[in-house]
Amino acid sequence: MANERQEIFLLKLGEVVLKGLNRRVFEDKLVSNVCRRVKHCGSFNVYLRQSTIYVEPQNAECDMSGALTACRQVFGVVSVARAVPCEKDVDAIAETAAVYLKDEFAAAKTFKVESKRADKLFHLNSIQISQAVGGLLGERFPDVGVDVHKPDLTVYVEIREKAAYVHAPAAPGAGGLPIGMGGTAVSLLSGGIDSPVSSWMMARRGVQLEMVHFVSPPYTSQQALDKVLELAKLLTVWCGRTTVHVIPFTKIQEEIRKNCPEEYFTLIMRRFMMRLAQNVAKNVHAGALVTGESLGQVASQTLPALNVTEDVTSLPVLRPLIGMDKVEIIRISREIGCFETSILPYEDCCTVFTPRHPCTRPKLEDVRAAEAVLDVEALMNEAMAGRERIRVKP
Ligand code: ATP
Ligand code: MG
Repeated sequence: MANERQEIFLLKLGEVVLKGLNRRVFEDKLVSNVCRRVKHCGSFNVYLRQSTIYVEPQNAECDMSGALTACRQVFGVVSVARAVPCEKDVDAIAETAAVYLKDEFAAAKTFKVESKRADKLFHLNSIQISQAVGGLLGERFPDVGVDVHKPDLTVYVEIREKAAYVHAPAAPGAGGLPIGMGGTAVSLLSGGIDSPVSSWMMARRGVQLEMVHFVSPPYTSQQALDKVLELAKLLTVWCGRTTVHVIPFTKIQEEIRKNCPEEYFTLIMRRFMMRLAQNVAKNVHAGALVTGESLGQVASQTLPALNVTEDVTSLPVLRPLIGMDKVEIIRISREIGCFETSILPYEDCCTVFTPRHPCTRPKLEDVRAAEAVLDVEALMNEAMAGRERIRVKP
């Protein structure tokens, strides 16, 4: 594409535009989120007009391809078009399109023009604009025919307040809602495939996340923790900066192993995880917990098992993967860039003390009774006292 320097990005907002009276708040949040994300790519002017966010480079030093990627990773944005502005005049628009999209025209056999008139004062309506610009481009590229149904190339023209804009098809954005609009939740992040995906899915609904991770040294290694911090870092390109609360879990696991029936190890352990995550949530004023559980995936993820786990928390437990197959989860994991790190072979504390025959249909009363031999409060206090907070930035 010619003349990179005057190229800008037009970001289309998704559900944000449906939010009625809250719309302003959503839009402001989104603009500030976009601003923050493109900052590391150079100096950009970011502003909103008529439900479109404009991202304009202020000088030639801006990293445009980095900024394009960043814009596509901002939740609340459904599409990103690279566009060039020009005068609001049919000849100028056709000339701009011919120069800007010359490579695309060279590769296409057919084209059409699709126009949008956001500036209702413009003297032609959208159909007339398309016809006029299409006619001029047809003269300019006589080998490229017009096909309004299935063209190889669609040239988009938008007549807006300040200028007209020409662009090729937009790239899809991340969708969802702007981070920060959905409150805060605490996500239980392990080193596996599932929990980074569940975190990402809730963040996409606008939830700001803080992470909790449980470690069991010496049974789990420094590499295992580094891997989780790396996953948290990979997530920041979508979710923004976060804090990982690292909580020592060895003593709890050893006490469970010493004092509780083997078939309940995992369940009682998971009850401790939920309690501790809830403590962190209270601490950071979060309104929910997020886990990567998926129904039936393992013994601790059957309906009776989930009932036992959930018993110890009064916060909503969000499980966005609950109805998903592993292949779908893996597809998302790859798309968001976590998969290769998730499959690194370091042990998680869950895999350290796995019972040979875990109970898949536990009765709540039985698990409560089995757990009653432990001093839950003392164990919790000790674990919370050992908590370490690690800030993770993009
Ligand atoms: P994942 O792939 O996310 O590890 P999983 O299928 O291995 O999930 P489990 O090991 O049973 O399932 O864990 C279920 C959920 O509990 C995880 O998705 C995660 O939310 C949480 N979890 C498990 N282990 C830890 C840990 N060490 N620290 C924090 N959360 C954990
Ligand atoms: Mg796991």
